[in-house]
Amino acid sequence: MTMTDTERVALVRMARQVLSRGSLGDFCQLMSVAGYQQPAQVLALIGLLERIERREVTRAIVEMPPRSSKSTHVSRLFPAWWLGRHASDNVIIASYGEELATGHGREVRNLIESPDYPFETTMRADSRAAGRWQTEQGGGLIAAGVGTGLTGFGGHLMILDDPVKGREEAESVLTRDHTWAWYQEVFLTRLQKNGVVVVLGTRWHEDDPIGRILNSKGADSWERLRIPYIAGVADQIGRQPGEVLDVFGEVPSVERGEISSYGFSALYQQSPTPASGGVFRKEWMTRRYCTCGRPQVCGNMELPTKTARWNVFQSMDIGGKQGVGHDPSALATWGTDGISKFVLDYWSSQVEYSDVKSHVVTQWRKWRPRMMYVEDATWAQPLISDLRRESGVRVHGVPTRGNKWTRADAVSPEFEGGRVVLPEDATWLPDWMHDHVAFPAATHDEAVDTTSLMLSQMKDQPGRTRMVRLNDKGAVDGIASVEKMRLRMKEFLRG
Ligand SMILES: [Zn+2]
Repeated sequence: MTMTDTERVALVRMARQVLSRGSLGDFCQLMSVAGYQQPAQVLALIGLLERIERREVTRAIVEMPPRSSKSTHVSRLFPAWWLGRHASDNVIIASYGEELATGHGREVRNLIESPDYPFETTMRADSRAAGRWQTEQGGGLIAAGVGTGLTGFGGHLMILDDPVKGREEAESVLTRDHTWAWYQEVFLTRLQKNGVVVVLGTRWHEDDPIGRILNSKGADSWERLRIPYIAGVADQIGRQPGEVLDVFGEVPSVERGEISSYGFSALYQQSPTPASGGVFRKEWMTRRYCTCGRPQVCGNMELPTKTARWNVFQSMDIGGKQGVGHDPSALATWGTDGISKFVLDYWSSQVEYSDVKSHVVTQWRKWRPRMMYVEDATWAQPLISDLRRESGVRVHGVPTRGNKWTRADAVSPEFEGGRVVLPEDATWLPDWMHDHVAFPAATHDEAVDTTSLMLSQMKDQPGRTRMVRLNDKGAVDGIASVEKMRLRMKEFLRG
């Protein structure tokens, strides 16, 4: 018996349909237009999605650069395949905008209605709106925008695709809080028993929803597929370090000024904290003063507290709204010998107004600074006058100029020039350094605010240029450049 061409085509089609029912990879091939390919990142993604369908993974995060076809697979092909295998399940797809989510819903519906669709699942004729439709088998799909209600609908497969709209939203702590509250209180509460959650998107900020999940207590229960545009070490799809990803479209260039290094690092590398190029760099924070008491052993410099020009100052950043969940307040204590600037102490906390005041007074009494600088903001006024009146704290309200970034940028040369000296060891030091290095992408910017304020005031102080003095034993007090020191020593020996 021989087959006609028509019979052969029909047989091949049938075989592909049978395979597609059991394999998402084959299903994607079957349902996609000619020219569809499955590069390494797509194969990795399909492998993850198949494990999710088998419930081997129930929480997954997918981070890939823009235009690497992650949405096509996760939010369009995968739900259509899922509903083929589980026709009575409900799928929820959410995105920053309802329109975007609805577009995914429409595409899933079109796939199910396609003549190539290899499953028995069928659409209900009376319930087929793109953003909310049902199958005749009792399942369905609902598309929602972040922030909108989802009551009365439970999800077996829940997809949060691109929860952040863009840079402006990503930089707003208020928007980040709203999105997170919605994710926890609306989205997650719709999860059915044994349901699965997939969160995917472009990274915008270290505190975006993916960032918050990764920093949450349950982070360990999430499977993370992170494929940066440029491979690093231990690449999840086996690339060599430096190898780039095969994506659709043109990738903007940092060198040509088409994207900032911060933007590229977030969007294309899924690393919202730039490795370098930040306002404050880690390599500028290597000068240390001794805190162990044995500078001969540790090799760090001694604090020049005995020198004539030694002065201690404090700078404070008062959170706009007090209480947990709002801006923390921070107080930094710095010392200077007129040249170098030493970070002596740092305190920050999300506490109530009355507690801020008592902490500030404690810090004031502990360090006895010449002056405490505070940003002269309206919400700081009551605290400033209270401190002056009740506690005798010498507070100087400083009017702010420019935004946080320009203020930080203006003082960063102090770091770059090696004039900022940190303690050898302090409990607050790791967080303080992280907040500076990660600025402006960091979650907290109050440490940087205290630094900007402090260094701008130290810079503005006239007559603070350091004179190297010799004490009666002929030793040099304080810290000066080697060259200056040598000159003064010559003079001293001559005289
Ligand atoms: Zn030491």
